Amino acid sequence: MRPAQAMFDRLSSLAVALTLIVIAIIFAALAGGDALSIAILAIAGIVGAATVYSAAAPVGPLPASADSLAATTATPSLLRHPDFALWVDQEREPLIGTADNIVTIANDAAVRLLGRHIVGADIRTAIRHPAATEWLSQLHDDGPIETLNLVDFPRPGQRWTMRIAALSGGDRIIFLSDRSAIDAADRMRSDFVANASHELRTPLAAILGYVETLQDMNGDADLPTRNRFLSIIDREARRMQQLVIDLLSISRVEADRFRRPTTPVDLAAIVRNTVAQLRDSEDARPMDIVTTIDDARQPMLGDEAQLGQLAHNIVSNAMKYGRPGTPVTVELAREGKRVRLSVSDEGDGIAADHLPRLTERFYRVDEARSRSVGGTGLGLAIVKHISERHQGQLDIESEQGKGTRVSVSFPLGGDA
Ligand code: ADP
Repeated sequence: MRPAQAMFDRLSSLAVALTLIVIAIIFAALAGGDALSIAILAIAGIVGAATVYSAAAPVGPLPASADSLAATTATPSLLRHPDFALWVDQEREPLIGTADNIVTIANDAAVRLLGRHIVGADIRTAIRHPAATEWLSQLHDDGPIETLNLVDFPRPGQRWTMRIAALSGGDRIIFLSDRSAIDAADRMRSDFVANASHELRTPLAAILGYVETLQDMNGDADLPTRNRFLSIIDREARRMQQLVIDLLSISRVEADRFRRPTTPVDLAAIVRNTVAQLRDSEDARPMDIVTTIDDARQPMLGDEAQLGQLAHNIVSNAMKYGRPGTPVTVELAREGKRVRLSVSDEGDGIAADHLPRLTERFYRVDEARSRSVGGTGLGLAIVKHISERHQGQLDIESEQGKGTRVSVSFPLGGDA
């Protein structure tokens, strides 16, 4: 039934009812009825008319028009749902909603990445990447969700991925994700393998070369030559051995890095032990080590073997790179709620631009010098990992021509 027709029917029913009441009241008055029976008749008539009117009323409100009826039955867009805006704002990665390729909603991360102007713009110009533009132009909304690599986006050397979820009616949700850090970690891993292979290959080539020369000489080499060759073979084999030990150490230390140590340790005893070992070693300058160790027990949780290795690497570096005959000072002192181990030497020092890179694996200031003193380039990388595992703070200060001070401060804790 059309709405105008229904309204007309209801009004005509009401008019008929009221007319009948008025006629009944006039007849009652002419017939000599008293005022009370006329009033009762009028009230009964009005109640009857109201009942007739309400009985004719349709159930529920009338739709305003056919168009609005269609609008209420159409599927509402997810992009305009208030919960969608809430979700989008909570997402940390860039998220964009588009209707027919026009950006209708973008979260903070997307605005930070692409600029505030993107809302209302065509997504293909907002993203400004040739692969993205081509993909967005060819995309079919019924296709599967695929991932597109955006290489050199938004800057050269960076990589992001883009995923699209197609909704009904040409609406889409676009997810952008930064893969640059993952790529950098992959690169670091493959660089590490390449560097480790290179480090092993160098002494191995020397060993093979000298063995071959001795074989070619077929016993003709004089004793001093033979001994010289054998000592080179011995030195290079030891270098390889140290490298293998350090490679195994770094992989163990890295594997442990998220496991907080739980054993109470005596750091003063660990440092004293390490110093004693280095003094006993065949090192060129064991007597240069000077210690100032606060023997008061510092309550600390740690991994004894790793802390010993940390102390060993720092003290042996000071011995390797400090000038012979100058002191290598080892100090252990409490600093409020922390304990600091510091090792100072009087050597050539390190230029400031190298300092931030010293804890990278295989980074050396002077490669030839490191090799000549038996360095592997892994010592400080191991120190950094051990320090991090113990929530330590590693500091390297150096002045060229004067010397270097490497220190690690650890938080005290536990009830050792
Ligand atoms: P390496 O096995 O080569 O000593 P490390 O990782 O222990 O490797 O140290 C990295 C580099 O930092 C060294 O090659 C050296 O150039 C520099 N370095 C470390 N400690 C000192 C120091 N006490 N004085 C001068 N240079 C140092």
